[in-house]
Amino acid sequence: MNAVLEERASQVCRLGEEPFAMVCNRPSLAGAVSQRACVFCGSRVVLYPIADALHLVHGPIGCAVYTWDIRGALSSGPQLHRMSFSTDLKEKDVIFGGENKLAASLDELIPQYTPKAVFVYSTCIVGLIGDDVDAVCRKAEERFGIPVIPVHSEGFKGNKRAGYSAACQALMRLVGKGSTEGIGPLSVNILGDFNLAGEIWIVRGYLEKMGIQVVANVTGDGRVEDIQRCHGARLNLVQCSGATMEFARMLQERYGIPCIRVSYLGIEDMADSLYKVADFFAAQDPSLRERTAQLVRTELEWLLPRLAELRRDLEGKRAALYVGGSFKAFSLVKAFRHLGMQSVVVGSQTGTTEEYEELAGICDPGTILVDDANPLELAAFLEEKKVDVFVGGVKERPIAYKLGIGFCDHNHERKIALEGFVGMYNFAKEVHASTMSSVWKIMPRKGYKPPFLDKEGCHV
Ligand code: SF4
Repeated sequence: MNAVLEERASQVCRLGEEPFAMVCNRPSLAGAVSQRACVFCGSRVVLYPIADALHLVHGPIGCAVYTWDIRGALSSGPQLHRMSFSTDLKEKDVIFGGENKLAASLDELIPQYTPKAVFVYSTCIVGLIGDDVDAVCRKAEERFGIPVIPVHSEGFKGNKRAGYSAACQALMRLVGKGSTEGIGPLSVNILGDFNLAGEIWIVRGYLEKMGIQVVANVTGDGRVEDIQRCHGARLNLVQCSGATMEFARMLQERYGIPCIRVSYLGIEDMADSLYKVADFFAAQDPSLRERTAQLVRTELEWLLPRLAELRRDLEGKRAALYVGGSFKAFSLVKAFRHLGMQSVVVGSQTGTTEEYEELAGICDPGTILVDDANPLELAAFLEEKKVDVFVGGVKERPIAYKLGIGFCDHNHERKIALEGFVGMYNFAKEVHASTMSSVWKIMPRKGYKPPFLDKEGCHV
């Protein structure tokens, strides 16, 4: 069965079977249910973890509910980000405009919650009725003396990447407003890590052991005041490049801060990221590389024997992955190799041409690469490739379970830290538990009948 719609054929590539020419970053096909999130959702996931800001969704209640606690991003202090405030626009507001309701919401919420800043998200309907959100925010900023920042994220105006861009522009409205006093020469900002299961604390721990100062966790366990002074850091570490590379570029252009791309997932990428930081600051601190090597050695001595145990069961199994940004996919492909597993389907919502080219370079021949997939395509690929475990997010979980395939949540809703060396071990344990679960003996993969079941699926 060919589950790929004709209009989407150029967004799927089978490595080695055809010339590599992936099309990506184009609007989702009208009428086909996309796994991809909207512009508003894209901006919300980037800004949401700023924990002492008030996040107000200007739109119908459905937009706010859709993104309520979307990252589950953990905070070491305030929890204001986990509320999902909305102006709850109704038919009457669509006809007469929602500006008064927005102003009234700000007047009610700001004194009650005393946030350090407010982000006001424009949704589809606000773009349609043409509310002047900028003007309402400007006046509220004058009234309350805190930043009230409009986020131009009308859901229909592009794809999730446009939401990332809107979020980066909103973030830049904060930068440069704080004092850079106390920021040393070995200092970094962490961009594109969302602290989903407290992972930013693992990464900060490594950096601090190396002697690196972290000025701002821009997108995870974030604080307004840290972001306001993040222009004082000497280096930006960009993990989720789709979400925050634009912000890093703006910091480079305006403040001359260079950036490096990093990944905290998997063994090589975690170690490489720490070494990249050590090399960057080598001139200021020549002993930094040795300290980093010692840290990596200690972690690996602990990790590798544990992985070897799990690998015994997983060797030869097949994995599929569908992630938000394709940069994460590189690390996952490598992580599966450590477990003796092959990645046979690799897809993302927002990959760029360069990222897909890089993926094609590290994946095995026969791997299906897919951009902006829909559930039917994914299900067909999983069946075709006889996948044992599917790694994805909340929208991919039911696809896996309906087909009788193990699933590992690697997205917003995960509760287990998967970054760092300890995260690699947690990931391996998750994959092992899901793939090897005895539930697949009584609920086997679609199209496969274990020998102990008869034709009707009853035990013989
Ligand atoms: S902004 Fe538009 S596309 Fe996004 S959730 Fe709201 S209505 Fe849906």
